[in-house]
Amino acid sequence: MYYNNETIIFHNGQFVKAADAKMDLYSQSLHYGYSVFEGIRSYQTASGETKIFKPIEHFERLKVSAQSINLPYTYHTQDLIDATYEVLRKNNFQNAYIRPVVYAPANMSFAVNTESYLFIEAWEMAPFLGDKLLRVMTSSFQRPNPKAFKIHAKAAGHYVNSIMASQEAKAKGFDEALLLDMNDHIAEGPGANIFFEKDGALYTPELGHILPGITRATVFEICEQLHIQVTEGTYTIQQLKEADAAFFCGTAAEIIGWESIDTTVFPKQWQNSVGAKIQKAYTDLVHEKN
Ligand code: PMP
Repeated sequence: MYYNNETIIFHNGQFVKAADAKMDLYSQSLHYGYSVFEGIRSYQTASGETKIFKPIEHFERLKVSAQSINLPYTYHTQDLIDATYEVLRKNNFQNAYIRPVVYAPANMSFAVNTESYLFIEAWEMAPFLGDKLLRVMTSSFQRPNPKAFKIHAKAAGHYVNSIMASQEAKAKGFDEALLLDMNDHIAEGPGANIFFEKDGALYTPELGHILPGITRATVFEICEQLHIQVTEGTYTIQQLKEADAAFFCGTAAEIIGWESIDTTVFPKQWQNSVGAKIQKAYTDLVHEKN
C-alpha cells in the first residue's frame, strides 16, 4: 500500500491527505502519458538525521524533463526540496521513496498548455541490502528512438516501453530486462542504468539513448575517488557477455549486481567485483558514513 487515510502529500502548494487529493480525469497527462516525474530517495543518515539524496540534481532534472516536452514549469528547486522535507516530516518518514509529478490540465487536444500542476508523494522504502543478484534477459523491446522522444526526459509515456520490457522478462522467468537501443547497442534497464566490468575497469553506455541517471553520475564520482577506470561508449551485447561482471544502478535499484545475461553467467564472484566496491561506497555515501 502506498498510502493510507493519514498519508500527506504536497499538491499544488498545499499539504493535503492523499486520500482526499483530486486530479482531473480530462488531464492531457492521463490520456497521452504527457507528464514528467522524478524518483528520489531519503535515507536515515549515520547522524540519525533524515537526508534526501541529491535533491538538487533530481529537481533540476524534473525541470529539464518538463521544459524539454514543453510542460510549463514555474517551480523553484529549493521550494520543492523544502516541500519534500515537509512531506517526510508530516508522515514521519526516514527511509522513503519520493515521487514528484508535474502534469497537465484538462486538454484533449495536443496543444501546449498555459499551466501545469505538481504533486509530491512519498512512501516508506527500506534501504536495499544488495545481496540478491539479478538474472537479466535481453529484451525484445528496444529503447525508443531518440528522434521519436526526448529520451533524456523522465516523461511518463516513455515508461510504457519500460513496463513492456520488464513484464516480458518476468513472464519468461528472469528478474529484469536489458534493453538495446535502435542500433543494437546495449542501452539500459527499464528503470536503471548499466555498467559492466572487464579486466578491472568499468564500461557504460554513453548518453544519447538512455536516461542520464543520477546514480550513474554518482558511480562516476565514486570511481574517481576509488581510482577505478570508467569509460563511456557504445557496446554490443556480445561485449557484455564477455564481461567479468555487471550491475544496474538507479535510485530505486541502488547498486545491484547481475548473476547472468540470458544464458551467460558472469565469471567473477560479485563480492570480488568492482561493482561490489562501488555498492559499498554508495551505501556509505547515501547514509553519510565516514
Ligand atoms: N534509466 C531509466 C529508464 C530510469 O527510469 C531510471 C530511474 N530514474 C534510471 C535509468 C536511473 O536513474 P537514477 O539513477 O537517476 O534514478
